[in-house]
Amino acid sequence: MDYEEFRVRADAVMSRIRGACEKAGRDAAGVELLAVTKSHPPQAVELASRYGLKSVGENRVQEGVDKRARTSAAVSWELIGHLQSNKARLAALNFDRIQSVDSVKLAAILDRTAGEMGKSLPILLQVNAGLDPAKSGVEPEAAPALLEAALGCANLRVDGLMTIAPLSDDPAVARRTFASLREIRDRLSKSTGAALRVLSMGMSADIEEAVAEGSTLVRVGSALFGPRV
Ligand SMILES: *Cc1c(COP(=O)(O)O)cnc(C)c1O
Repeated sequence: MDYEEFRVRADAVMSRIRGACEKAGRDAAGVELLAVTKSHPPQAVELASRYGLKSVGENRVQEGVDKRARTSAAVSWELIGHLQSNKARLAALNFDRIQSVDSVKLAAILDRTAGEMGKSLPILLQVNAGLDPAKSGVEPEAAPALLEAALGCANLRVDGLMTIAPLSDDPAVARRTFASLREIRDRLSKSTGAALRVLSMGMSADIEEAVAEGSTLVRVGSALFGPRV
């Protein structure tokens, strides 16, 4: 894909975000666009960066590590895919934020690795807000304990929550899932005092539903780069 084609696609995504914000009475500056570059070459990262996007998302650790080594684009790298504990160390060493933290064990490994690096590692907790058996993420009832554990990790910075809506042709399913994540955030924020400002929710198919329910970060792949290769 050349830059002109990308620009047209990115403009269209931005105008969907702006339209949804307008409808919801929200400031469009409150919704960040994360370019999901998984399955696309390093050039995809460069297109996103040239357009002015600040961050890219990858869902496999090794693919992200390899891609990052092959581009010098000044973006931050976020892991959005399921993370196994045997890859946690590599992820902490190579990503700027990890959105898929869904267990205490994972949080502990990330915390230890970040400590060794002398850095504070930003994370999101992935919550299975749609109660979807096919999705990873901590179950909503276990989220308070996971948050307590993560807040107790000296080298982790918990920015907020992430979820993926169940696959469905009915937009109401995604919307309910996103509303549920927001309610979970509001409850957790109240009970712990942590701001949990980031709500990472919404992908190509459900940007509008996510923005309507308070998303601050939409993760968009195919609408920007075309179908995955
Ligand atoms: C692939 C992926 C996305 C982007 O999906 P699109 O439908 O291509 O926009 C967003 N979030 C996660 C966790 C993903 O794995």
